[in-house]
Amino acid sequence: MGTVASATSATDDVIALLSDLVAIDSVNPSLVPGAAGERRVADHVAAWGQHAGLSVELIEEPAGRPSVVVRTGRRGDGRVLLLCGHLDTVGHGEMTEPLVPRVESDRMYGRGAYDMKAGLAAALIACRDAGRADIGGEVIVAAVADEEHSSSGVQQVLRHVTADAAIVTEPTELAIATAHKGFVWIELEVLGRAAHGSRPHLGIDAILKTGPILVALGDLDADLRVRRQHPTLGPASLHASLISGGTEESTIPGRCLFTVERRTLPGETVDGVEQEISEVLGRCRAADPEVNASQRTTLAREPFEVDAAQPIVGTLARAAGGAADRAPDVTGVSYWADSAFLHAAGIPTVLYGPGGEGAHAAVEWVSLDDTRACARTLTRAALEFCR
Ligand SMILES: [Zn+2]
Repeated sequence: MGTVASATSATDDVIALLSDLVAIDSVNPSLVPGAAGERRVADHVAAWGQHAGLSVELIEEPAGRPSVVVRTGRRGDGRVLLLCGHLDTVGHGEMTEPLVPRVESDRMYGRGAYDMKAGLAAALIACRDAGRADIGGEVIVAAVADEEHSSSGVQQVLRHVTADAAIVTEPTELAIATAHKGFVWIELEVLGRAAHGSRPHLGIDAILKTGPILVALGDLDADLRVRRQHPTLGPASLHASLISGGTEESTIPGRCLFTVERRTLPGETVDGVEQEISEVLGRCRAADPEVNASQRTTLAREPFEVDAAQPIVGTLARAAGGAADRAPDVTGVSYWADSAFLHAAGIPTVLYGPGGEGAHAAVEWVSLDDTRACARTLTRAALEFCR
């Protein structure tokens, strides 16, 4: 007891574990019907944890979508640090050999290497090595299912686990991310009156009535980008992501359906976003009484921002500076992540993970040096936070 495993063996271990995780198919079956899911990779993490002398619990809600909670066990009244990463990946798409963890100089290629099996491997190594040292608190790793679709894994884990702080080890290029955006999906239905194209006096063209609404939403987007800015996340924004309508060439369309996605900044609410869209529709209706449009929110995810005065922010900055010989950047990330759920559960949360490229793309790789640095930083952070 008392000392951390030597740097050399720990850093080799993180690459070996990463390689094993990449080789296991864990495509999210909610994204790709019939895909492998988290079963095999969860079993691998559980077996690895048991072999490392850690306590392991499988949480399988809903059935077939297991998450794994790995713990050092708590020996004193020190603080509890939760490290959180997801087990699932997006589909293989156009990738060649997605499940072959190929190493070229500093890069490991493969689906999920960057998003985010490297961060997960680093978290597990940090949990093991902090557990071998003499901490008085506890380190917990939540290896969760389904982040790439509905985040059911982290929501279930939060019914069993709490902590004094959390680090989500999504890729951040070794920066400390203290904020990310949220999003709201709103479906809009514009109704007209279907009629034969040769009898225009009988119809109301739902697609043409949609035009001014789209223009007004474009104006709203332009306005948001100027008026609503966040120091690290940039502007709030909106785009029209899906549209459908009409039945055939010679029929005036009776219905047009489209979806807008609104990316939200910390402090913005779903109610506020719905109100903005509702005001756009109100103005379009005032300009043209034949506009018959309604809106429906189909999914919303909260933005996230941690108070920079939270102890975990300083702890992680000191750990990262010590492990990499330079102070880390403190920034925001563009993507949404499970951190929003941890934050909403009252756990001060930051994001920190390795660099690479190609999340959700045809070529994905992670930096091996960054993965090693991430494992060292997380270990140092755990030793300080949980001592
Ligand atoms: Zn991810």
